Amino acid sequence: MELESILLPGIDSKRPLLIAGPCSAETEEQVVTTAMQLASKGIKIFRAGIWKPRTKPGGFEGIGIEGLPWMRRVKKETGMYITTEVATAKHVEAALEAEMDMLWIGARTSANPFAVQEIADALQGVNIPVLVKNPVNPDLELWIGAMERINNAGVKKIAAIHRGFSSYDKKIYRNLPQWHIPIELRRRIPNLPIFCDPSHIGGKRELVAPLCQQAMDLGFDGLIVESHCNPDCAWSDASQQITPDVLDYILNLLVIREEKQTTENLKELRRQIDDCDNDLIEVLAKRMRVSREIGTFKKEHDMTILQTGRYSEILEKRGAQGALCGMSAEFIKKVFEAIHEESVRQQMEIISK
Ligand code: PEP
Ligand code: MN
Repeated sequence: MELESILLPGIDSKRPLLIAGPCSAETEEQVVTTAMQLASKGIKIFRAGIWKPRTKPGGFEGIGIEGLPWMRRVKKETGMYITTEVATAKHVEAALEAEMDMLWIGARTSANPFAVQEIADALQGVNIPVLVKNPVNPDLELWIGAMERINNAGVKKIAAIHRGFSSYDKKIYRNLPQWHIPIELRRRIPNLPIFCDPSHIGGKRELVAPLCQQAMDLGFDGLIVESHCNPDCAWSDASQQITPDVLDYILNLLVIREEKQTTENLKELRRQIDDCDNDLIEVLAKRMRVSREIGTFKKEHDMTILQTGRYSEILEKRGAQGALCGMSAEFIKKVFEAIHEESVRQQMEIISK
């Protein structure tokens, strides 16, 4: 992807880049009051949802174009930049007409290539930053694909927003962070700025601060946080919104650690990791050789490759062993599932010969 800096004039590159504002624009007073309070805390980019994709019909689906002049007022009276979510070509046109400085694509939209393409077509020739939230499902390729569609339309100021992934069994988070996915995104596209949206990951006020800190510790570039002048009365996402005061408090407590130059100690530790990884690969190769021998045996004796009882026994025993060595049984199970899959593949090769 050909990318350009998303920094707007007057915004410095110090981490974290900040975007804050309510989940939804509700009334002119709520929008302007929240924006004034945020501006007084030094926030320079104001977010508010004008069109809201809701899981079920009947909820508040956004104020619509009626709210656009309120955003313009924020821009005029506070000097903040303004941004909103777009999900259709019509939204893009209306948002540009209202002089939005930045747009974002929501999680439900980025999961749909037709919708993203429609937005991309409407963005031809526009060069304002476009932030793309991860799709609701944990699919990195779909996320990258959405950004590529926008990039192919000529938009070079692109950033990603990590807002967590929906899962059937919700535990503490509203949307699971699955940090390895944005980390892999960073590895794949190192110059792409990544924002964290702690509000939609956490779903609860108490989780905003720890999630902001985790995102900073993982080297994220920015934060987009839902903030409302009266969170308890918010028309959407009330339980995850915080007042501008609380946001300011959280931001002041954030510890920003910079990626340090490699020190000698770190070099030595990394050398040890390289050694461990080499050993792992050798052991795995040896295990596969044994597996292939078993494959030959199974072939000669007309046995099926998959011996379910044996497989369950391996998963169970290794899980317990791993737990004894201080690793999570779930992690060990994942590793052995992957190893088993490769063993089966190798045995199938033998059998089909
Ligand atoms: C939002 O930012 O208010 C929003 C609807 O988020 P998401 O698309 O991440 O659910
Ligand atoms: Mn929201």
